[in-house]
Amino acid sequence: MCIACPYCNVGSEIPTDLLGRKGLSLKSATCGHPCFQVAVVDEIDLADCLA
Ligand SMILES: [Zn+2]
Repeated sequence: MCIACPYCNVGSEIPTDLLGRKGLSLKSATCGHPCFQVAVVDEIDLADCLA
């Protein structure tokens, strides 16, 4: 997936499976600001809610 730094708007392409369930803390390679990308909700999480 592609995420964009909110400070400099430069996007980075990262593998979605790196996010995991807790999300991933990233630092912008361009401006150095820390960015945070939350984890995506997958089908397993939806199944847990319905149980
Ligand atoms: Zn940035």
